[in-house]
Amino acid sequence: MQVSFKEIFVKIFRRFRLFLKLLLSNRSRFSFLNLVNPRDAFFAPCDNRKIIHVDMDAFFAAIEQRDRPKFRGKPVIVGGDPWDRGVVSTCSYEARPFGVRSGMATHRALRLCPQAVLLPVDMNRYRAVSEEIFDIFRRITPLVEGMSIDEAYLDVTSNSKNESSATRLSQQIKAEIFLKTGLTASAGVSFNMFLAKIASEINKPNGMAVITPDRAAGFLEALPVHRFHGIGRVTANRLHGMNVHTGRDLKRLPMEALVEVFGKIGRYYYEVVRGIDRRCVTPVRVRKSLGRENTFPVDTANLDFLREKTLRLGLEVGGILRSMNRRARAIILKVKFADFSQTTRCRQFIQATDDAGIIANRGTLLLDECAKAFCKKIRLIGVSAHLEGPDEQPSAQEEFAFMQSINPKL
Ligand SMILES: [Mg+2]
Repeated sequence: MQVSFKEIFVKIFRRFRLFLKLLLSNRSRFSFLNLVNPRDAFFAPCDNRKIIHVDMDAFFAAIEQRDRPKFRGKPVIVGGDPWDRGVVSTCSYEARPFGVRSGMATHRALRLCPQAVLLPVDMNRYRAVSEEIFDIFRRITPLVEGMSIDEAYLDVTSNSKNESSATRLSQQIKAEIFLKTGLTASAGVSFNMFLAKIASEINKPNGMAVITPDRAAGFLEALPVHRFHGIGRVTANRLHGMNVHTGRDLKRLPMEALVEVFGKIGRYYYEVVRGIDRRCVTPVRVRKSLGRENTFPVDTANLDFLREKTLRLGLEVGGILRSMNRRARAIILKVKFADFSQTTRCRQFIQATDDAGIIANRGTLLLDECAKAFCKKIRLIGVSAHLEGPDEQPSAQEEFAFMQSINPKL
């Protein structure tokens, strides 16, 4: 690859300009950040954080294989009853070459891999193992944010071991997890949460990857858009339609264009492709959403039946909100079809509410609105509330994190 003299000159000029800004700025770190051209963000002061994302490998299935040696080396599926519309929670790596994936119907998974051992979910046992693992994390830093039972972010910028290398630290964490639990984990190391998460996926299972600030730009530019955490199949397809296939293509789009096409989340895309993610590892998370869902015994297209179920779910959510003394700022309806594809509809309330009747009615209105577009039978309906926080106006990222929590494919 040839780099022209002009490009080198521009790079040197940008670094020099940033150096000058740093020198001249007496402001706080964050007001300084606002002055920085997003293209220079890789050299911004927040890049000196050290974040590790740890994700256990096939957690439930790995525990089962650890405790029952006869299943080691065999395809293991942990999931619900195939005769009762159960879904796969986790499958061992031996089952994955057959096309088995988390979230698919158990009966389909067993058709793809008939020799697999099917085991029921034993959440209490998994939770006990998870606590052992989180204890290891918390002995290293108090800044541990659990994303699920088997996944967490650790801010190790300062840590109890006084270890300056996050890479060495994550090797130690992996080794300690294996020693204590006999299980393997994958770790990603970087300077923000977004990149640490992507890094942990690179060498799965039992892998580790590091994305340093100087490698981040090149890495993100080469990354296909569907690999960006937060860009699901639908968004990726829309981007492909816009001739955007990689981070490099995405970077060419101005923020205004992204916001126009994707709404608030466009800003998030604009920033993460430049390696900007200002989220902090937050040990205690304020609950941001609350939802209930219902899987039907048989797939249905009966609108009256669906309306009644939506109404009940809405009333239930409203009742819980009131008992928690929280209010909903928006309501989200999730519809999962017979083929497991799903759609969500969201509506903001002008004023936050805990009125179960209003929530339930709005849920059915959302159902009516999108029912015209349904051409498949429905297997599941979910109603959730986006909760009003202590002090309002969520950032685009919070909005995104919330939307993603209700729709992982987003
Ligand atoms: Mg995992």
